[in-house]
Amino acid sequence: MAGVGLVTSMATNRLWAKGIAAAGDADSVVLNAKVYTVEPGAKPVEAFAVKAGRFIATGSSDDIRALVGKNTRTFDAQQMTVVPGFIDCHNHAVGEQLLYDVIVGNPYGVEFVTIASIIEKLRAKAKETPPGYWVEGYFFDDTKVKDKRQLNVHDLDKVSSEHPVAVNHRGYHTAYYNSKALELAGITRDTPNPPGGTFDHDESGALNGRVTDRARAVFSKVGKRPTYTPTEQIRRSRDAMAYISKQFVSYGLTSVHHEHFNGPDAFRALETIRAEGELLHRVYFAITGRMLDEFIDSGVRTGLGDEWLRIGGTFEHAADGSFSERTMAMSVPYQGMNGYRGNVTETQESLDAWVARIHRAGIQVNCHANGDVAIDMVLTALERAQRQYPIVDSRPQITHCTLINDSLLDRIKVIGAVPAVFSTYAYYNSDKFHFYGQDLMSRCMAFRSFIDKGIIAAAGSDFPPGPFAPLMGIQGMVTRTGWNGETWGPEQRVTVAEAIKINTLNGAYASHEEHIKGSITPGKLADYVVLSDDPHTVTADRIKDIKVVQTVTEGNVVHQS
Ligand SMILES: [Zn+2]
Repeated sequence: MAGVGLVTSMATNRLWAKGIAAAGDADSVVLNAKVYTVEPGAKPVEAFAVKAGRFIATGSSDDIRALVGKNTRTFDAQQMTVVPGFIDCHNHAVGEQLLYDVIVGNPYGVEFVTIASIIEKLRAKAKETPPGYWVEGYFFDDTKVKDKRQLNVHDLDKVSSEHPVAVNHRGYHTAYYNSKALELAGITRDTPNPPGGTFDHDESGALNGRVTDRARAVFSKVGKRPTYTPTEQIRRSRDAMAYISKQFVSYGLTSVHHEHFNGPDAFRALETIRAEGELLHRVYFAITGRMLDEFIDSGVRTGLGDEWLRIGGTFEHAADGSFSERTMAMSVPYQGMNGYRGNVTETQESLDAWVARIHRAGIQVNCHANGDVAIDMVLTALERAQRQYPIVDSRPQITHCTLINDSLLDRIKVIGAVPAVFSTYAYYNSDKFHFYGQDLMSRCMAFRSFIDKGIIAAAGSDFPPGPFAPLMGIQGMVTRTGWNGETWGPEQRVTVAEAIKINTLNGAYASHEEHIKGSITPGKLADYVVLSDDPHTVTADRIKDIKVVQTVTEGNVVHQS
């Protein structure tokens, strides 16, 4: 499914491959480094050279010095480590929330908050908000609360009785509401659960305020929300996108697969900041809603665009609930939950129809499936679509693909799907894995199993649900030990080299771009990261603390610490 952009870059690659690297030719060189190229089978090198935004040569510092001319920028890395730029294959890139909304947890790392602090922040917001309008908090994490209990409707009633109030879990599948919100939505203790969602109750049978998955839909139709003029909205989106781009490169991400709920707004913002020189990372843009329909109608396929902004696959089409919020659809019941097996959020029939339509249109299918039941459903839909309309090497993405078993692995391999697996969860969410237990965790976020099976799995932070720091992700993949010292599913550990490849070259593969990025190879885009320490040699529980000294995209320094 290569688009116009890919064809051009392949031609460029051939030009470089002829070997135009000559003495005094480089725009910039990095010398005296420990360069892990991530080229299959290659040993680390000391140095490399960049020209016109691409790597042109790798080798010893002496080799590369020969390419230094009077206009060449030279960077002496003083034995620091260089790896290809990191790639995040699943990220909601919600700059607007970070800039404009009430943040009740820490978006970037592990931090415990009190319920009182959440109430206080929302009260302050309520004071400046007219009655009847929503007051919402974001980035709540139910296992990062100092009070060691669940947030509930009574807590949120302390915020306001005149405003509908919601606290959204950073995992995006559950939220907590106050009485006003429940009342506006017409939800009582007797309201039955809709398919694929729940209104939760306390021990007395009263609503406790927690609402899961599809049961949340009713709240989008009630209460008032602020509106913006088109000019205001464009400004907000633009500023938010510029902000998140800076954040990404500061953590070493040079390519991110963007998943936005409001596609056109986000796409326009990306085009704007690119034109204004503020797009610092490369974007593979997931499509949904009106954009998706119109692209199918007009014959636009995945891959159209260029190395900076490319049309990707679809927005994750959800087949089940959440891993972190314990609503994913499993074949076994959750412990101590009266036989609850999670939420299936899509019927097989409608999933089949959706997948077939997308696949046939030449658009990369991307389905969200966490539990083994949901992964089975997605594979069934993919197998049926592929039988009806065979497409070579379509690389459908299974976002999360969390709980696997041997038969699912076989089917993923045969269909050629790319799992985009939680990257930072092993470290960040270790406080949630006791809900599943060691047995299930030995088959969750199964990077080892994917590698052993020859399946190319990539990293997907799913930000906001997970922090997006790639080094936190690598540490978790290598140790399977979380912030609280607990180790879950050690069978799924990978080596540092494997974890770096998952976060670089495999990410490029997920967007059909492994020939232009993902490794430090002459001819490829010069995207790389300079690290203060070598993840291969520091103690594994310190990988997350390694500093991103410099991030470079297309040969330009876009972050320097
Ligand atoms: Zn997601």
